[in-house]
Amino acid sequence: MSNVKRTRVAIVGAGPSGLLLSKLLDDHGIDSIVLERRSREHVEARVRAGLLEWSTVELLNEAGVGERMMREGLLHGGFALAFDGRMHRIDLEGLAGRPMLVYGQTEIERDLADATGDQVVWNAHDVAIHDVDGSAPRVTYSADGTHNELRCEFIAGCDGYHGVTRKSVPTGRIAHYERTYPFGWLGILADVPPVGDELIYANHADGFALCSMRSRARSRYYVQCALDDRIENWPDERFWAELKGRLPAEQAARVVEGPSIEKSIAPLRSFVAEPMRFGRLFLVGDAAHIVPPTGAKGLNLAAADVRVLHEGLVEYCRNGRTTLIDEYSERALSRVWKATRFSWWFTTLMHKFSDDAFTRKLQLAELDYLAESPAASRALAENYTGLPFAAQRRAD
Ligand SMILES: Cc1cc2nc3c(=O)[nH]c(=O)nc-3n(C[C@H](O)[C@H](O)[C@H](O)COP(=O)(O)OP(=O)(O)OC[C@H]3O[C@@H](n4cnc5c(N)ncnc54)[C@H](O)[C@@H]3O)c2cc1C
Repeated sequence: MSNVKRTRVAIVGAGPSGLLLSKLLDDHGIDSIVLERRSREHVEARVRAGLLEWSTVELLNEAGVGERMMREGLLHGGFALAFDGRMHRIDLEGLAGRPMLVYGQTEIERDLADATGDQVVWNAHDVAIHDVDGSAPRVTYSADGTHNELRCEFIAGCDGYHGVTRKSVPTGRIAHYERTYPFGWLGILADVPPVGDELIYANHADGFALCSMRSRARSRYYVQCALDDRIENWPDERFWAELKGRLPAEQAARVVEGPSIEKSIAPLRSFVAEPMRFGRLFLVGDAAHIVPPTGAKGLNLAAADVRVLHEGLVEYCRNGRTTLIDEYSERALSRVWKATRFSWWFTTLMHKFSDDAFTRKLQLAELDYLAESPAASRALAENYTGLPFAAQRRAD
């Protein structure tokens, strides 16, 4: 026997995309239920992204969850490229007309979870989706020892790369495009002041390094490492020495060392699944696409999908028109592929792929060109701060 519940939109996954979609729908009087397999504590403790495009900031504000973000987030008008012992600043505001905001994904999750409250079922297990090609899809799951069935009009698959929704689509109906990279990022979080006011992306003969931050007192640093490396091989002292070795001398001298409070290794991958809609199922965020973190696009793309999908669902729920939900996959994918191209390009420019001296000379020549050419710097700034959304093809 199942407990049967009803909602208009069943959302699988309470990451940023699932919670943000639920909040925006709620603001328009559209009810949804979010099913999350982990506990709230677990979700809020995952250290991930932290750099928001301005369109993401606007969407979070529109959803009414931006108050703390605007107070505590750090505005960034630019970032630096470090290469060949020197620094070149990319002036984001001057070149693209918009800044970025540093605000941790953990904080966004907390703000959204506070705002969504009862709509989320935490610790929902064995989630399975059914009948997405008909007009009455269903989601089954168990929670607190009971078996439940959620009857709905639409299902949003916001359950990340390892989730169940994309995997439920029959292989013949979905295309996967993938590129893996022969290295990973070793990241640490430490309660020390950042090396400067802005991010530094470093290209070095020994590999990439990134100086990032979560606040004025909390730094996030990364160094490129081997894919099969293990965090046990990286005591803090080794990490700090490696990071400083990959920065120009002046910036290395400013690194404040301290004990790591989190340390992890993440592989890098580019992945896109097409299309992003199957009948009444929509794939959203990491469930449909993954980018390497160079360029900070993952979370921002997830928010962009939510923007496009919620507009479509609101239009449908208000007046029954399907124009915008019919365009969802095409509109979302047009931005996804441009961000996938940018993240791949920036990753290729900044990382060590091999010991091939010719490739390294080409990287240094391109970085030098970026430093000399306002047009090349502008292209980087436009992509980094986020490209415009594809226009709606409205019939009316
Ligand atoms: C280690 C790491 C570091 C990252 N660093 C950066 C970065 O520096 N910059 C950047 O821009 N992006 C980064 N990202 C990517 C960014 O965090 C994601 O793009 C973003 O979280 C996407 O949000 P989402 O809601 O689509 O997916 P997710 O955040 O993955 O959320 C999916 C949710 O679905 C839940 N779920 C999964 N399967 C099921 C199921 N079967 N049933 C119910 N629930 C399920 C998961 O528990 C999770 O809570 C990083 C990602 C990782 C993994």
